Amino acid sequence: MTASAPAPDSARSRPPAVEFRGVGAWFGTQHVLRDVDLTVAPGERIVICGPSGSGKSTLIRCINGLVPHQAGTIRVGGRAPGGEGARVGMVFQAFNLFPHLSVLENCTLAPIHAGRMERRAAEELARRHLDRVRILGEAAKYPAQLSGGQQQRVAIARALCMSPEVMLFDEPTSALDPEMVQEVLDTLVGLAEGGMTMLVVTHEMGFARQVADRVVFMDEGQILEDAPPRDFFAAPGHPRARSFLARVL
Ligand code: ADP
Ligand code: MG
Repeated sequence: MTASAPAPDSARSRPPAVEFRGVGAWFGTQHVLRDVDLTVAPGERIVICGPSGSGKSTLIRCINGLVPHQAGTIRVGGRAPGGEGARVGMVFQAFNLFPHLSVLENCTLAPIHAGRMERRAAEELARRHLDRVRILGEAAKYPAQLSGGQQQRVAIARALCMSPEVMLFDEPTSALDPEMVQEVLDTLVGLAEGGMTMLVVTHEMGFARQVADRVVFMDEGQILEDAPPRDFFAAPGHPRARSFLARVL
């Protein structure tokens, strides 16, 4: 099929990977997401940036149901977030691996218990994903025996073991020592090249330029910009996006 050929019906009729329509969220009386609209197509890579406290973590946590929303609708692959619906993988800033489990056991725990996989199949799957993030050689070690960058790659492999349709990353490199940032970004680039649908909260603007289809800029609970990186970096439309960029670039 050439690039200009129309998408087959099956692709055209697929629901968005993620869809927010008029979403509002509050913590108590604090309004933290304001009328958020966002549509992410299957396979799209979205980078989300913005000042601290602007609602980035809240937005992505709504996608896997970790945070409830009180207004509007959210659909993940056409289904409501959380529960039995869509499979969403999440990687946090701190590598919250289970310290008392080996790397391999960290990856097989959920597939065996939640996914009800046989141990052998779960281990085979885990080895495949550990190999994919280039850490298979450390499978028998415990988290404390690994560097921060290695732990974060294990966290990515662990999320992949749930066969997610969408992967969420919340500042995955901001707790790392500087020399370990690149190995984790390279892992994200590899996932992106493999076609994974990804929403990545990060201030790594080089990464945004390299892999994002769109950069979303948030401030005070609102999406103020949603543009391809080329446009976003050349001429952010909103003054608050311009001053943010001046600070992070
Ligand atoms: P960001 O990730 O952009 O830094 P957050 O989504 O974490 O922003 O936070 C948005 C706002 O919501 C902030 O004012 C924060 O203090 C508040 N907030 C976040 N999580 C909670 C929570 N669990 N309870 C109360 N307030 C929260
Ligand atoms: Mg955050």
